[in-house]
Amino acid sequence: NRRIVLASRPQGAPTQENFRQEQQSVPQPGKGEILLRTIWLSLDPYMRGRMSDAPSYVAPYEVGDVLGAGTVAVVEQSQHNDYAPGDWVVSQSGWQDYAISNGEGLYKLSGPVLKHPSWALGMLGMTGFTAYMGLLDIGKPQPGETVVVAAATGAVGSMVGQIAKIKGCRVIGIAGGEEKCRYATETLGFDACLDHRSDDLADALKQHCPQGIDVYFESVGGKVFDAVLPLMNTKGRIPVCGLIADYNSGADLPEGPNRLPLFQSAILRKRLHVQGFIINQDYPNDFDGFFKQMSQWIEEDRLVFREHTVEGLENAVPAFIGLLAGKNFGKVVVRIADD
Ligand code: NDP
Repeated sequence: NRRIVLASRPQGAPTQENFRQEQQSVPQPGKGEILLRTIWLSLDPYMRGRMSDAPSYVAPYEVGDVLGAGTVAVVEQSQHNDYAPGDWVVSQSGWQDYAISNGEGLYKLSGPVLKHPSWALGMLGMTGFTAYMGLLDIGKPQPGETVVVAAATGAVGSMVGQIAKIKGCRVIGIAGGEEKCRYATETLGFDACLDHRSDDLADALKQHCPQGIDVYFESVGGKVFDAVLPLMNTKGRIPVCGLIADYNSGADLPEGPNRLPLFQSAILRKRLHVQGFIINQDYPNDFDGFFKQMSQWIEEDRLVFREHTVEGLENAVPAFIGLLAGKNFGKVVVRIADD
């Protein structure tokens, strides 16, 4: 049983030295337990937060502990009444080949995910759910409104933009580089997509949002937010989903003038609704409704979902480091074993 543990806490961007691969014998399930074999491992930006011990909404990983993560796994052995060998489940079994579970927090795969089990970590799992609730419950997009979405081709952003299109909005994506921007317009069907690395992001955004911005789905922060804020319309909504541009900088304040008064004044004058949310804490009763609606849209061919597939547990660390630097193109999933 290979497993990857936290070797040390990163300062700034994580490096290979912060991780260690260990080898253990395969654990055996006791009464009421099952043995899970990991097939797919999800890599997600929130893991960077858990590598630090700064206060957060989830407990940090402990040094020496296996890194936690959402997985798709197959039941290998069962001493649990609800699970039989061969069942496919979504679990939180982490960066390892095998894990023991007592069934808590597990659910069995069903519907369209059985054809694409890794989708249970993306479009039909945590990241799709995040896009769906953040956009619809907080963003409340109305037909004809302008929605701007950051990290537009990523796991969450690509779904936000497509759902906003389904709701009849004009959608402007913001992504890193020409290839991702082309994909956003040509494949995802966004009305435009702008490169956040270009010097004239603020001007370009202004040009593409002649009616201002009604909903800004925030996943990035930093320079992107600076470009968005002046264009927000009165009564605009900002679901704050993530701030990935700052995840590696910790609690240190960046240099530069204090722009907080600018932000607060915009909230006041324009009566902006700015709301953070944590998907697995704020919407305990909404997953089934999301799953049903998304499954229907998938069946109707209204959603495109791109995965960034990494082969093998041994490649998980570089893939995770790359995810924080925008090297991924789509939802990052690691194939741990063949099914
Ligand atoms: P993505 O698949 O979108 O991958 C991360 C992307 O972020 C990169 O590909 C890169 O895209 C972009 N990025 C990285 N650094 C920067 C930067 N400095 N400036 C601008 N863009 C950057 O990841 P996810 O879809 O899984 O997550 C997106 C966001 O949603 C994250 O902030 C994450 O923490 C958050 N999230 C929040 C949840 C919640 O419950 N609140 C749940 C799930 C996710 P590009 O190359 O286009 O710049």
